[in-house]
Amino acid sequence: MTRVAIVGGGASGFAAAITVARAGKAFQVTIYERLQKPLKKILATGNGRCNLSNVELSPTDYFGDTDFAENALTRFSPQSNIEFFESLGLLTKTEEMGRVYPLSGQAASVREALLSEAARLGVRILTDCEITEIQPRNGGFLLNGQYVCDKLILCAGGSAAPKHGTDGGAFRLLDNLHIPIKTPAPALTALTCAHFPKSLKGVRQTCFVRLFYENSEVYAIQGEVQFTDYGLSGIPIMQLSRLVSTNPKARFTIQLDCLPQISETDLCRFLETEAKRDGTKSAGTLLLGILPQALGNALLLRRRIPKDTPCEAVSARDFGALAKEIKGCVFSVSGVRGFDFAQVTAGGADCAAFSAQSMRAKQYPNLYVCGETLNVDGGCGGYNLQWAWSSGRAAGEAVVKEQSAC
Ligand SMILES: Cc1cc2nc3c(=O)[nH]c(=O)nc-3n(C[C@H](O)[C@H](O)[C@H](O)COP(=O)(O)OP(=O)(O)OC[C@H]3O[C@@H](n4cnc5c(N)ncnc54)[C@H](O)[C@@H]3O)c2cc1C
Repeated sequence: MTRVAIVGGGASGFAAAITVARAGKAFQVTIYERLQKPLKKILATGNGRCNLSNVELSPTDYFGDTDFAENALTRFSPQSNIEFFESLGLLTKTEEMGRVYPLSGQAASVREALLSEAARLGVRILTDCEITEIQPRNGGFLLNGQYVCDKLILCAGGSAAPKHGTDGGAFRLLDNLHIPIKTPAPALTALTCAHFPKSLKGVRQTCFVRLFYENSEVYAIQGEVQFTDYGLSGIPIMQLSRLVSTNPKARFTIQLDCLPQISETDLCRFLETEAKRDGTKSAGTLLLGILPQALGNALLLRRRIPKDTPCEAVSARDFGALAKEIKGCVFSVSGVRGFDFAQVTAGGADCAAFSAQSMRAKQYPNLYVCGETLNVDGGCGGYNLQWAWSSGRAAGEAVVKEQSAC
């Protein structure tokens, strides 16, 4: 019997464990999970709905060692992973932009489906069990000086979201095995901005967002921006945060078009027409017709127009400047929120040290690494879980095939 140890009871760990255990009784599969319960992070994914894949996946949705990732993402495609979940008794639905969710709309269903299949297959799960030492021993490995295995699949995630069990421990384990690590950085996180108006906290507005590095636009995206007391968040901001975190010395600015639906000329015309229609109306009330109050007031303040100023006292020039501010409000980016707030890790184990087909380490023929531990990360939209299932299944399949070939 081949003893297969899986370090990390998260998404890729369960995908790998189920794949190996389905091959039958020739394999004894044990998951070692440092937390009290496995798959804790899954419950937090997709705001509790678990965006588990994306049927519109393309290579440009991934970063890091993308050429490496393509093999597993193609063989274990979104459709293949949807079928994998169907084989666990979990149906899915596809929503806008190709995002795949469990049909139940609950992340807990994904967790239960994985747990019940692992239990049916006799996968052993040791919880409260952090692996802190991996020693190569007789072709296999000795974990923490006490657990022996013939094959080891390391699925211990990255450094993002330590409250869900992932604190970079996987990188320390690999570093001790002399496997190179590309510097981890937080991705899919919020931005901190210098001199950010705290009054904006709680505002949500669909904006066209542009990120600039030294006056050149490096990223542009439209979506709902969430204003916070430290800076900006929301999906479009999370999408571009990787560029900021992986270039810590660069100075970025961010420009928000707070009314992308209206051209600057039409906006100017609207402001002036409204001001003529009712000149006694305050500038603050005028903006209430087009923007959330706190945002309108903050933009007026930036143009030094007191919000109580009657419209008849605002010059055409000031209205022009106000329209410019609404269409291109600029903040200086001071950094990103750290790993505590990030959804995923950019960087990680250098994929050059592994086979793209099997996830097997070139230095250690019985060591496999998958999921977020590898230097592969995706954007918002189900791409990271898609990678976790695909790479986990690829490693599991390789363990089974290589064993059968012996
Ligand atoms: C709030 C939040 C929301 C997210 N939403 C989405 C989403 O909707 N769609 C999407 O695609 N992605 C989402 N992600 C990202 C996605 O969850 C991860 O990329 C994915 O779970 C990574 O899978 P993994 O198997 O590599 O690692 P994880 O799922 O992180 O699992 C790693 C496991 O290993 C355990 N572990 C760590 N070190 C050790 C050790 N030394 N010994 C034993 N056990 C250890 C951890 O406790 C953990 O259970 C989200 C992430 C967060 C934080």
